[in-house]
Amino acid sequence: SETELNRLAEQLPAWLETSRKESRHGQPASYIPELAHAPGDALGIALLDAAGREVTAGDSRLSFTLQSISKVFTLLLALMDQGEEGVFRKVGMEPTGDDFNSMLKLELVEPGIPFNPLINAGAIAVSSLIRGATSAEKTERILSFFREVAGDPTLTFNEAVYRSEAATAHRNRSLAYFLKDNEVLDEEVEPVLDVYFKHCSVEVTCRHVARMALVLAMNGTDPLTGRELVPRRYVQIAKTFMVSCGMYNASGEFAIRVGLPAKSGVAGGILALVPGRYGIGVVGPALNDKGNSIAGVHLLQTMSEAFDWSMF
Ligand code: GLN
Repeated sequence: SETELNRLAEQLPAWLETSRKESRHGQPASYIPELAHAPGDALGIALLDAAGREVTAGDSRLSFTLQSISKVFTLLLALMDQGEEGVFRKVGMEPTGDDFNSMLKLELVEPGIPFNPLINAGAIAVSSLIRGATSAEKTERILSFFREVAGDPTLTFNEAVYRSEAATAHRNRSLAYFLKDNEVLDEEVEPVLDVYFKHCSVEVTCRHVARMALVLAMNGTDPLTGRELVPRRYVQIAKTFMVSCGMYNASGEFAIRVGLPAKSGVAGGILALVPGRYGIGVVGPALNDKGNSIAGVHLLQTMSEAFDWSMF
């Protein structure tokens, strides 16, 4: 509502500065070397409502790469391309309780399929399901879908981050080869990985992320254009995964403390939404030991408690 938004605009700068202090207990990811350059004490937020009213605070203009946030949107595109049956032949519906790049439980669901589409193994399988004759064509389709949902036709990859990940992704490579051996991947491994690295390296600000989140909050329709971008059923599936797996093995704690569908990425971004009401994008590159933005989670918790946003 307008009064809630006014109150939010008033309080947000002070809340953000309090949360920013949490950054010193974490640090930017460094296993992708290029991500280590991010400013560890940055914190920015953008919140957008269905009438197009926007509230921002802190480093809301900082650009960063989507990383795992992109997995929600490749899942949506794969569902639109292959239907539920086509997707869930290759990837499960269960949380793992392990790290996002875990190898531990790859074989425990059905014959070798990854537990869910938001862990790396599952997202790599999803990348292979995007329609397109070549990896370049798949990548192009992903990019144009992201551009539509973010409402920005100039959205593109950060080449340096893409190269940095592609050059150091030994673990993701081994996950992908394992999936290939289990016949989860029908295609060659390297072209599938190329699609995956590229969608992870799409560069955004938290204002883009807020817009992407708003489309999910409004069940697939962009309220600013009135266009249906994703069928409601697929958004429902994506939001359910966000609640059960969106914050990796901290998803249970996040559900208790914040209680909103959300997805984090290792560049420090968090996409969150208040169903039917707001899209939220947060960026804070310093991560906690679970790989989530430490200050970003703190800020979302403060807001959710103040406005009683928990879904539960
Ligand atoms: N591109 C990153 C990776 O595959 C995404 C992981 C993440 O954001 N958690 O390691």
